[in-house]
Amino acid sequence: GLELVGLSMAYGSFDVVRNVSFTVRPGTTTCVIGPSGSGKSTLLRGINRLHEPKGGEVLLAGEKTSAVRPETLRQRIGLVFQHFNLFPDHTALDNVALALWKVKGMSRSAARARAEQALTEVGLSERADHRPRDLSGGQQQRVAIARALAMEPEVMLFDEATSALDPELVKGVLNLMAGLGRRGMTMVVVTHEMGFARKAADQVIFMDEGEVVEAGTPEAIFDQPQSARLQRFLSEVL
Ligand code: ATP
Ligand code: MG
Repeated sequence: GLELVGLSMAYGSFDVVRNVSFTVRPGTTTCVIGPSGSGKSTLLRGINRLHEPKGGEVLLAGEKTSAVRPETLRQRIGLVFQHFNLFPDHTALDNVALALWKVKGMSRSAARARAEQALTEVGLSERADHRPRDLSGGQQQRVAIARALAMEPEVMLFDEATSALDPELVKGVLNLMAGLGRRGMTMVVVTHEMGFARKAADQVIFMDEGEVVEAGTPEAIFDQPQSARLQRFLSEVL
């Protein structure tokens, strides 16, 4: 699991994440919601140290991430973005396999076998030979998810993974993510899909202006919001 202890992050002198603490127990899904600019993406960047925190700690399986080599950390914590960043000239299979032999040092045949397995897991085994441009947006996002899964991460982070997709493709990717959660993946999901948060989250974190304003079960957050800020946010998005 993950533990955030007083995590603070800034861009220069501009404080963006302020003293955020919460725990993500192994095998659970935490959804992070909040208005645009509230610091959600920056929080994820702090968890896997794409951006160095200003203060506080992140523990991964009890170990300070500040003590883990960045390359190792990015294998142990997978990240899926809004934009998939696939290599356009490589097939789906190679997109997944590349990091396995380049970063993980697997043999090419073992990497391809693992990649095939990951593509099967996301329901794309039949498209393994397609290049990104010959896949739908939803299928491209599945390739990106397979690429992260193939590294066998301990935790998966999703940053608005469905917000660049055509509406009819959103549901399939959300279902895939929910399935990963049910099968025991530990996940932190930044999303504006409130239906997903309600159904799939064990814990919902509401952030505003870099702070955790409320945290609780989906029922507590959506049915009994305590703060005026969360009430206002929900009235705008629901
Ligand atoms: P959204 O829902 O729109 O994705 P967010 O909650 O993910 O928003 P962040 O992207 O974390 O918000 O941004 C938080 C604040 O930090 C914003 O005010 C943003 O303008 C600022 N910010 C983000 N990235 C940078 C950067 N690289 N340099 C300076 N400021 C940044
Ligand atoms: Mg964001």
